Amino acid sequence: MSTTEQPTTDAAPSPALPDGPRGLLIGGEFVDAADGATMAVHNPATGEVMAEVAVAGQEDVDRAVRVARDAFVGAWRDVTPSARGKILWRLADLLEENADELALIESLDNGKPLAEARGDHGFSAEVFRYYAGAATKIDGRTVTPSAPGPWHAYTRREPLGVVGQIIPWNFPLMMAAWKVAPALAAGNTILLKPAEQTPLSALRLGELFLEAGLPPGVLNILNGDGAVTGAAIAGHDGVDKIAFTGSAETGRKIVHAATGNLKKVTLELGGKSPNVVFADADLEAATAGASAAIFSHMGEVCIAGSRLYVQEDVFDDVLAGVADNARALKVGPGTDPGTQLGPLVSVEQLARVTGYIEDGLRGGARALAGGARHGDRGYFVEPTVLVDVEPDARVVREEIFGPVLVARPFKDPEDLAREANDTRYGLAAGVWTKDLSKAHRAAAELQAGMVFINTYGAIDPSLPFGGYKESGWGRELGPDGLDPYLQTKTVVVAL
Ligand code: ADP
Repeated sequence: MSTTEQPTTDAAPSPALPDGPRGLLIGGEFVDAADGATMAVHNPATGEVMAEVAVAGQEDVDRAVRVARDAFVGAWRDVTPSARGKILWRLADLLEENADELALIESLDNGKPLAEARGDHGFSAEVFRYYAGAATKIDGRTVTPSAPGPWHAYTRREPLGVVGQIIPWNFPLMMAAWKVAPALAAGNTILLKPAEQTPLSALRLGELFLEAGLPPGVLNILNGDGAVTGAAIAGHDGVDKIAFTGSAETGRKIVHAATGNLKKVTLELGGKSPNVVFADADLEAATAGASAAIFSHMGEVCIAGSRLYVQEDVFDDVLAGVADNARALKVGPGTDPGTQLGPLVSVEQLARVTGYIEDGLRGGARALAGGARHGDRGYFVEPTVLVDVEPDARVVREEIFGPVLVARPFKDPEDLAREANDTRYGLAAGVWTKDLSKAHRAAAELQAGMVFINTYGAIDPSLPFGGYKESGWGRELGPDGLDPYLQTKTVVVAL
């Protein structure tokens, strides 16, 4: 079923990509790879090559680790907390001063609508400000031991050293912000690897950090393929911690690679998050919320509300509304004014998402909206709503990471909790009801790191973000997001 207009073939030409760094950032300079390797960066709205960026091999990773170690010992860990905070704050100001340019880079590179890119970058600036403030609030404790004798005992909270941070392509700049801000606030130095599909905004971030006064070598940025550059960072004995956001499959590889020096690991992985609408909900708000939960950012969102459960009395009405919303979305290049749903990030992602849709339809699902690729140029997919899906269908169980919603009716809350929790993931969940008790009972019952009540996907720099079960290890954002970048030292003095 083809439900959206098909403007992509004759769409206006993409705006020009702003100039910016294309090398590896090592030791405060953008440089070529040691072996001169480069890779192409594509515009997902057209499939055309927009830029060539350097690709880091083992030799570059080794050099970046040495540089980051020197910068840690020689400079950054001893910079005062206030001075660290000021650099982070200055960086946030620079992000805002360059908001239009950054949003254009992100929209061209990732495909997302300009308005969404602007929103991501505003949020990123706030994350830098939150952790700018946190830098001056990292304290140990004095402790009174019970063992006989006069003691003076206290704890210190110290940075780990060199941290590797590997990020995905769905929120290129925002994922960099979530990782870099707490690590720098805590006094660590960094090797950041952007996703190979979307390196451009992270490189511009590196340039802005130098302008903000970050000492050379504190933040190093290494583009490249996961299997080469990412694996070299994850397996490096000179890296003290790895922070990863991406697929569960790659998360497992990172865990294995980290065993060599038993580096610390935090993971933010996938989800297949249930969004639950009870019959007593504000149905207009729930319908709009359920649509935004799966269609914003093309559904390429780890917390996407990708499984919709609606109480049976109102199932047809709510689903009709969600399908109308899907059909009404303006699909087109992210840089076109008015676009609400951009292309998927890559040709691989296009194949993956359409493959899931076809698999669902073959298995007996019915598409209330969408159900196919959109247009024949670029990587667009129709916003899709599937009903009549069985609980064990792949479209219900596996993360699709695209604008594809599966919906099932439920009768009573007990069945609902069982079905909503019947997943290996546990990242987020939504609950829509006017009944306070029901809402909080569901919040307690749902196995997810974040539960949204009468809203979906509301995130904030102060609120911990992370997963239960196979959705990850550890939390980002909030005070919890700083902890993985610190280690506690106990100091005991016999007086
Ligand atoms: P996707 O399959 O959607 O691209 P991934 O989880 O593989 O998602 O990618 C997220 C990030 O992990 C990217 O920066 C990617 O380059 C990186 N990556 C992929 N494979 C590995 C690996 N074996 N080791 C380290 N990083 C990897």
